[in-house]
Amino acid sequence: MKNTVYFMDLRATPKESLIAKLGRLMETAGISDTFKKRDLVAVKLHFGELGNAAFIRPIYLRKVVETIKGLGGNPFLTDANTLYAGARGDTPSHLTTAIRNGFAYAVVDAPLVIADGLRGKSERAVPVEGKHIETAYIGTEIVEADALISVAHFKGHELSGFGGTIKNLGMGCASRRGKLVQHSGVSPKVTRKKCIGCGDCVPHCSQEAIALEKVDEKKYKAHIDPDACIGCGECILVCPQGAINPQWATSIPDFMEKMVEYTAAVLKNKENKTFYINFITNVSPACDCVPSNDAPIVRDIGVVASRDPVAIDQASVDMINAEPALSACCMEENREAGSDKFKSIYPKVDWPIQLDYAEKLGLGSREYELVKI
Ligand code: SF4
Ligand code: SF4
Repeated sequence: MKNTVYFMDLRATPKESLIAKLGRLMETAGISDTFKKRDLVAVKLHFGELGNAAFIRPIYLRKVVETIKGLGGNPFLTDANTLYAGARGDTPSHLTTAIRNGFAYAVVDAPLVIADGLRGKSERAVPVEGKHIETAYIGTEIVEADALISVAHFKGHELSGFGGTIKNLGMGCASRRGKLVQHSGVSPKVTRKKCIGCGDCVPHCSQEAIALEKVDEKKYKAHIDPDACIGCGECILVCPQGAINPQWATSIPDFMEKMVEYTAAVLKNKENKTFYINFITNVSPACDCVPSNDAPIVRDIGVVASRDPVAIDQASVDMINAEPALSACCMEENREAGSDKFKSIYPKVDWPIQLDYAEKLGLGSREYELVKI
């Protein structure tokens, strides 16, 4: 079945600004059918890493908030903590980064709530019927919310080719343990060269899976027992040397399929309670988690909105691939209109896997009808 993807280009007039046009896009695409009055509405976005400037401008989020409030909903902006220690690895750092990037209450007119608690451990176990995952670990506040509006910045991604709605939901709503499961099927590993044997990681492991091993008279190194480890990822955050890292053992197709299964888990208790928006602007070659953003690969195209998470990503990737690459971007090959831009940047990543598998799991349709407003 073809689902509808609504599209606004970036033309504006004094009578209708881009912000007002975004309001019209959301209304036309049916945001009012997504939640009831007084529902708690999670608006899931990426607040941007410190140093990255490609994320969605906060003034657009204020329009999303205003629209939800105008329909009687009670919105909050949310994201889950990252797997890695850094500027968004725990709630205080994450909120500080979000505010520094412009997502202050005074700008967006809604509270920010980090979905998975102080250290990424506040999660709900959600059963999934997938090839890889039996139980998904999703940030508590996402599961608890009555409705979910995904506002994704569409861009390239090192492991999934591109990141759009599916990635914003599947990876973005997972707790630290959920993110680790998607990134790797096994426990994290200590890089012995980097470990100084300080022991900081040992008391932080709830499973007592980490021990210090004596390597000579004076030196100790941490070791993780893979049989005891449950893959929560807590130790990755704690190590001051960055010596504990996920093992990149999962193949890229498996990574994408796990991400899609997590998306299914996020949507599980929200039938007819979700709405999706992709900003096809500042289409950087890499994820907004990187603390910088290279020049966009194509011109700013516009914004799309839909009730179908698969159709919206398919439409977004099609619109980007239909464009010629910008002269100043990183791409050396396949620059012409109609070529696969994401395959050109990440030749080892077969991005259609995420859309194919999402369609197979019944999350939506790769066929769509594009309606320009
Ligand atoms: S916290 Fe890091 S540096 Fe310290 S013992 Fe653990 S792995 Fe080694
Ligand atoms: S991932 Fe969690 S369970 Fe495994 S060693 Fe680290 S802290 Fe312990």
